[in-house]
Amino acid sequence: IDPARPVPDIRTALPGPEGQKVLDRDGAVTSPSLPRAYPLVPKRASGSTMEDVDGNLFLDLNAGIAVNSTGHTHPAVVAAIKEQADQLLHYSASDFYLPIYSQMCAALAETLPMEGPTRVFLTNSGAEAVEGAIKLARYATGRQHLISFFGAFHGRTYGAVSLTASKSKYHKGFGPLLSGVHHVPFAFAEIDENGHRSHDEEATFAELDRLFETEVDPSEVAAIFLEPVQGEGGYIVPPASWVQRLRALCDEHGILLVADEVQSGMGRTGRMWAIELADVQPDILISAKGLASGLPLGAFAARAELMEKWGAGAHGSTYGGSPIPCAAGLATLRTIQEEGLLANATTIGDQLLTGLRELQAKHPEVITDVRGVGLMIGVEFRDAATAAEAQNQAFQRGLLVLDCGVRTIRMSPPLVFTAEEATTALRVLGEALAALEA
Ligand code: PMP
Repeated sequence: IDPARPVPDIRTALPGPEGQKVLDRDGAVTSPSLPRAYPLVPKRASGSTMEDVDGNLFLDLNAGIAVNSTGHTHPAVVAAIKEQADQLLHYSASDFYLPIYSQMCAALAETLPMEGPTRVFLTNSGAEAVEGAIKLARYATGRQHLISFFGAFHGRTYGAVSLTASKSKYHKGFGPLLSGVHHVPFAFAEIDENGHRSHDEEATFAELDRLFETEVDPSEVAAIFLEPVQGEGGYIVPPASWVQRLRALCDEHGILLVADEVQSGMGRTGRMWAIELADVQPDILISAKGLASGLPLGAFAARAELMEKWGAGAHGSTYGGSPIPCAAGLATLRTIQEEGLLANATTIGDQLLTGLRELQAKHPEVITDVRGVGLMIGVEFRDAATAAEAQNQAFQRGLLVLDCGVRTIRMSPPLVFTAEEATTALRVLGEALAALEA
């Protein structure tokens, strides 16, 4: 972080009657396009350091939203991509046998928190993997209804956005959505307008009881979709006992438990899969984001007997599991293992959590909660405006963090994040908070 470099003016988005206008540094309207969290324009990056088009350097605690798991442009990943590019760019794996596709499935299957044989299907994105999981859950069970949670985010395609929490910006204007989707309270939520946590562990099961008694028989429910650590909803870690109760409820009624590990998986929590924190096995597991360190690759995996019900051609994807993303995915899985990145996520995550709790003790009026596990950490602020201001103050000082939920900023740095970088991040955040309070 070079103090001599000019820092871009972050006050570029002004609310107006026609929506938000984007202003350039001189205050002129440049474009009516989508407003961004702050005006970062990335040029190149390495490890956990990002350089923008003006030559400003940033410490990246976003990692492209939990995507650059092995750090930016990891040499092993880049080499694997280049090597594969010289050999084969594409051949549809839904129609032909591609060895690298099978290698990727096999390597991923070895990491899964599921006993017994599994089958893996590769996709281009998280949302596409969620769609596949929805189709599989309905097909394999012959049931139609699906359950997900308040605060959940599963993607923006129709099935995925229907599972995404209701009453949100994600739904307005897009209906009718997928039918048969029900939302129930998550184990825990951000504080509400009155400063109270809006629900607790019992609220989930009380609402499920009510749902099963009055609206839908549990024998008609295909699956419960769970983020083992809720991501976009505010980086919220549910108690292990709550996840175990959900598993038991699924077993009781023959409902599939689907773990959406798009954000929480691939080592982010210090475990390969966050559901391992609760010692629970899902029936279907969904991955994307960190799976290929930045190339478009997603996956859903299921117990073999579920996916084997699909006949030939029941599901497919032209680009899903294309050779170059598979090469990057294989290199990512190897790198996580060879460089001990799960252990690193735990060690550095603990360092960050401890430092952040010290900052909370220093600024109790500003920070209302620090939570997380491994390198999936949320800092909850007293209100949304304060969280946004903290994010901007951090950006002005060269630290990239991003809001989530209602009033939380998240930290999801690359799994290669070092102790020295964590110390720098905490120092800069401390300065940002001091400026904010001043
Ligand atoms: N599921 C979860 C838990 C996610 O966090 C996201 C993305 N934020 C998605 C699904 C959708 O992934 P994608 O953007 O790759 O479609």
